[in-house]
Amino acid sequence: MTFDVITIFPGFFGSILEHGLLKRALAAGQVSIRIHDLRGFTDDRHHVVDDRPFGGGPGMVLKPEPLFRAVEALQAASDSEVVLLSPQGRLFSQRVAEELADKRQVILICGRYEGVDERVAAELATDEISIGDYVLAGGELPAAVVMEAVTRLVPGVVGNEESTRQDSFSLAEEAAKGLAGQDGQGARGLLDCPHYTRPVEFRGLRVPEVLLSGDHEEIRRWRRRESIARTWRRRPDLLKYAALEKEDLKALEDMKREAKVAANES
Ligand code: SAH
Repeated sequence: MTFDVITIFPGFFGSILEHGLLKRALAAGQVSIRIHDLRGFTDDRHHVVDDRPFGGGPGMVLKPEPLFRAVEALQAASDSEVVLLSPQGRLFSQRVAEELADKRQVILICGRYEGVDERVAAELATDEISIGDYVLAGGELPAAVVMEAVTRLVPGVVGNEESTRQDSFSLAEEAAKGLAGQDGQGARGLLDCPHYTRPVEFRGLRVPEVLLSGDHEEIRRWRRRESIARTWRRRPDLLKYAALEKEDLKALEDMKREAKVAANES
């Protein structure tokens, strides 16, 4: 899997490629990440990448020619994904990350200033992705977010594959059981269960006894129930698409009943 990032700030990516998961995946050759300076795809003496907006108004807009030239030079195959990072794109989620993890090449275009000439979105990009409903100054942080989330899903990158399957929003767990929920977009799957490590007691707070019991089936059931409980409390929208089994539905009913009783008592 190869990421090609097109940016006017190539130096921005130094530190994220030199730490943790991305560093390891790069060293192991599991992904390759190439950072390209957009100015290298200009043909004028001053390497101009932006210009004033037609119709007037504040700020600058990234010009189309260097971006088209860059993508056309980098595109290694006809099925390469060309992603424009944009607050107007479809919302990034674990599901979108899973989708991108299947591609051989993902080209990421980082906008700046007021944005990018609309012809890039219309004719060059195959996808527009937003990492959330807020506006950043550039597409570099969003590109880094996308690369890290996708790289975690490339087989072999996270040592224990079960660990990514149990992550929040992960559908793989349900898919493995042939139970994949259905919806158009957005996150699916459950939130992850809580995790604890030593010490058993910290400032009077004890780790749940069941985790110390050594009873693997009990622990599995507890974790599943906790996942469902916190998804229900924090992100009930996700439950709509979660593939719940009989045992899960019963646990959910119990939780709802207990909550109702507690509410009536208070
Ligand atoms: N005027 C634009 C925002 C431009 S922000 C608008 O209102 O839609 C400058 C660049 O930052 C964008 O071109 C995009 O590449 C990037 N960017 C900002 N917020 C983003 C977000 N939430 N997700 C993805 N990219 C974002």
